[in-house]
Amino acid sequence: LVKTGKKNNYKVFENSIQEQEERKFLIQNSIESSLSNGDFFLVYQPRIDVKTGITSTFEPLLRWRHPSLGLICPDEFIPLAEETGDIVLIGEWVLNESLQTLKHLHLIGNTDIRVSVNVSVKQLYQSTIDQSIKTMLQRYKLPPQALELELTESILISDEQRILDILKNLKSLGVQLSIDDFGTGNSSITYLKKLNMDVIKIDRSFVTGVPKAKENAAITSAMINLIHDLGMKVVCEGIETEEELQYIIDKGSDEIQGFYVSYPLVKKDLFQYLQREAINGPKIQYQSKN
Ligand code: C2E
Ligand code: MG
Ligand code: MG
Ligand code: MG
Repeated sequence: LVKTGKKNNYKVFENSIQEQEERKFLIQNSIESSLSNGDFFLVYQPRIDVKTGITSTFEPLLRWRHPSLGLICPDEFIPLAEETGDIVLIGEWVLNESLQTLKHLHLIGNTDIRVSVNVSVKQLYQSTIDQSIKTMLQRYKLPPQALELELTESILISDEQRILDILKNLKSLGVQLSIDDFGTGNSSITYLKKLNMDVIKIDRSFVTGVPKAKENAAITSAMINLIHDLGMKVVCEGIETEEELQYIIDKGSDEIQGFYVSYPLVKKDLFQYLQREAINGPKIQYQSKN
C-alpha cells in the first residue's frame, strides 16, 4: 500500500486491491459452472495464405460472457484458470468446440481448411493431452494435419527432456506445432527448430508500423529470413494496415492474420466470410517482389 498523505486516497487504493481480489475470487470460482452453463464461446479469426490469398486456417479465440461481470477477455482469465488448474477443462472444451467447427466446415466442402488452437503451458504439461487430442480427432474423423497447436515460448520453462518428450508425442499424432507471439520470450529461433516446430508466428509488436518503424522493419525482415532458412513457415500476426501488409508480403511471410483482413468472427460470421471468399475470390492480391 502507498500512503498518499490524504486519508481518503489511502482508502480508495485499499478498496481497489480488495475489489481486485474479489474479482479474482469470483472469476476462479465460476469457471466450472460457466463451462456447464454455456457462458464460454469462441470467436474465429481467419489466417490468410499469401500465395492463394484465401483463408488456410482459422484461430479460435476464447470469450467468456460472465453471468455477473459481463464479457471477460482471455488475457485476464486464462492465467487465473492456470492457477486453479481449470485450464485443463477449458482447454478440452476449446479443442472439442474447435474441432466440431472444423468438421462442420469440412462437411460443407471446405476440406482444405485447418484450425490452429492456443494451448497453454499447464495444459501442455498435463500428461494426457496427446491421448485426449487423439480421441477427439478420431471422434470427428479429422486428419491430424488439419490441427495446429499454438504454444508460447514459456513452454521452455521446464527441463529440456520433458518438453522434448511431450512435443515428440504430439508430433507423432501428425498434428502441426507452432510458436505463438514469437520474439516476446527469450528463446532462439534455432532452438525452436530443434523442438520440431512447423510454424513461427511473429508477434504483432514487431509488425506494428512497418516499414516506417525502421527497427521493427529490420527485425521482422531478419526474422522471416532466418525462420525460412531453418525450414519453418512464417505467420505475421496483428496486421492492421495496408502498409504493414505490403511490407511483410514483400519480405516473404507465408501467411498473415490481423484486423486488416478480418476481426475474430462468431461462428455464423466465419461461415459467411468463407462463403463470400469462395464466391468473390481472394481479398488480398499482392505480388511479392521476391
Ligand atoms: P494470441 O493467440 O496471440 O491471439 C491473438 C490476439 O490478438 C487475440 O486477442 C486477437 O483478437 C488479437 N488480434 C488479432 N489481430 C489483431 C490486430 O490486427 N491488432 C490487434 N491489436 N490485435 C489483434 P484475444 O482474443 O484477446 O486473445 C489474447 C490471448 O489470449 C491470445 O493471444 C492467446 O494467448 C490467449 N487465448 C485466447 N484464446 C485462448 C484459448 O482458447 N486457450 C488458451 N490457452 N489461450 C487463449
Ligand atoms: Mg494464438
Ligand atoms: Mg499471438
Ligand atoms: Mg498473444
